[in-house]
Amino acid sequence: MKKAIDGLILRERPSGESDKLLTLLSAEEGRITVIAKGARSSRSKLLSVCQMYNYVNLEYYEKNELRFGSAGSVNENFFRISDDLEGASLAAYLSEITLEITGEGVPAPDILRMLLNCLYCIRENKKPRQQIKAVFELFAASVSGFSPDLNACAECGCVASEDVWLDVMNGRILCGECLRGHRGVDPSFEEDEYRARSILLPMDANALATMRYVLSAPIARALSFRVNDSESMARLERAAEVYLLNHLERSFPTLDFYRSVKKFDQGIN
Ligand SMILES: [Zn+2]
Repeated sequence: MKKAIDGLILRERPSGESDKLLTLLSAEEGRITVIAKGARSSRSKLLSVCQMYNYVNLEYYEKNELRFGSAGSVNENFFRISDDLEGASLAAYLSEITLEITGEGVPAPDILRMLLNCLYCIRENKKPRQQIKAVFELFAASVSGFSPDLNACAECGCVASEDVWLDVMNGRILCGECLRGHRGVDPSFEEDEYRARSILLPMDANALATMRYVLSAPIARALSFRVNDSESMARLERAAEVYLLNHLERSFPTLDFYRSVKKFDQGIN
């Protein structure tokens, strides 16, 4: 019996003579794998459907617990993302995060919606790239259960917004006074009293308020803010990245590539 599912294509590999092995993200079933029959053949209707970042409706049949795509249509395409290398490399990084934090058979409607929003903003050049990246990283940390508590200093309960540090590994904030006074440590230290790894990142009022906003806003509004101060944006960007990578306990080759593209772009501008 034929079935159909909506999914965003996040990975494609050649398979057999003319097939493609696709990894898609669907709202209902999370990550799914489909063998798209004949999708690499120039005569196949699936050729244009089964392309990276296409959000597709795929018809498939099941055999020996595998899914075989036989026909489909494109709901929304993001092929213009590959027009510029920085956008393409950011999309690849966000996709790699998504593959890391989603599972087969685990519904992922929020992650799918957020990723589609981010891809849309990359394609349409709607938001600064570092903003899209930071929002998705914070969102990914949050849906993975690592959302930091940013309400007040975890030790004294003060709500200072300057001289505040993000305590990455403990998912909390500490004021400078607590760090220097009570604990007698310099915020730049690398180990805490248990000699465990400790990462403290300096925040400012703007970066902190933005982080709070992103973590509490509904998905449709999460990208709707503007940070005019480049230093605050840099702090936000660094905090989001360091926070996610340390909680997922891994790095991403696509992030290294995105960084190298950015560095190259800055070098020629
Ligand atoms: Zn404090």
